[in-house]
Amino acid sequence: MTDRERVAACQDRLDSVDADAVVLFPSTDMQYLSGFTDEPMERHLFLFVGRTDGPLFVAPEMYDNHIRHDSWVEDVRTYADGEDPLVLLEHAADELGFRGGRVLLDDRMWARFTQDFRDLFPTTEFGLASEVLEPLRLRKDNAELDALRRAGEAADAAMDDVRDLGEDAVGMTEAELAQFVEERLAAHGGDAPSFAIIAGSGPNGAKPHHRHGDREVQSGDPVVFDFGTRVDGYPSDQTRTVVFDGDPPEEFETVHDVVREAQQAAVEAVEPGVPAEAVDAAARDVIADAGYGDEFVHRTGHGVGLDVHEEPYIVEGNDQPLEPGMVFSVEPGVYLEGEFGVRIEDLVVVTEDGCERLNHTDRGWRA
Ligand code: ZN
Ligand code: ZN
Ligand code: ZN
Repeated sequence: MTDRERVAACQDRLDSVDADAVVLFPSTDMQYLSGFTDEPMERHLFLFVGRTDGPLFVAPEMYDNHIRHDSWVEDVRTYADGEDPLVLLEHAADELGFRGGRVLLDDRMWARFTQDFRDLFPTTEFGLASEVLEPLRLRKDNAELDALRRAGEAADAAMDDVRDLGEDAVGMTEAELAQFVEERLAAHGGDAPSFAIIAGSGPNGAKPHHRHGDREVQSGDPVVFDFGTRVDGYPSDQTRTVVFDGDPPEEFETVHDVVREAQQAAVEAVEPGVPAEAVDAAARDVIADAGYGDEFVHRTGHGVGLDVHEEPYIVEGNDQPLEPGMVFSVEPGVYLEGEFGVRIEDLVVVTEDGCERLNHTDRGWRA
């Protein structure tokens, strides 16, 4: 889909949910529709899309060139510092006809701006932009899948480099390993890490949200590596648990086998029409049967697109049927507090008859 087709699809959805316009703040939703985004900021910068009118930007004058360079949207209305941007919002409201109508505001718009909209348009009803954007972003088109595949390849290649460290990794700190990963991701064509790189050694691997610290890897330590990189705006996200040298803790091999089997079972459960929660159950059943159910302390996966965490969530209670083009992680884990953790994660894309993994690097634990 081109950006223009995305806007047209957004307009169709506005019509079907009976909303008059969507107003986006700098965010991945803005990026998805226009090609432009930036860090959220204190200045008024919005993208308006009406049912038939727009898209149009209201933006600070200093952003004029930036938006015209990054975005295909030609209607860019600017104000200078010191001018009142609210006048431009009122003009947009009149043209798009949403006074007294229903407007969907960016889910991530700062409260100070939603307050401006409420004050300016007291008869307008407000909702969230995700009502129309989320269903659109759920199924990835070919250009998005191409970027996700390349991001996955870069992560796989970096993970191969990590394994190649072998016994040289013993004595390195987690922070040094994370730095190594960051350099290798860049060397393989990644633009920037998808999120703070996780390198959790020994007992730190048992904390699913541990990032990296000063602990030095010791011989026999299992080390959980969870990282990804962005390519053309789209992130990868993969996890491997490796032992660089020496003998791992007694229970480790059993736990690694269980997690690997759970991950495989969950991937095999993926096909169109299957509810998201069935994929979670496929992984959870294997781990529970092995007696580690209480140590699998998180959902099995999350959708991945412009955001590293987005719909669909692979979690009990989500009965949303999977559809071709959805992309999400499959990442069961078992965490033995004070000892070690094991997690294995690949991204998958739902195909017409199953799924395709976006990560292929070795899933075994020996470096
Ligand atoms: Zn760091
Ligand atoms: Zn991850
Ligand atoms: Zn993940």
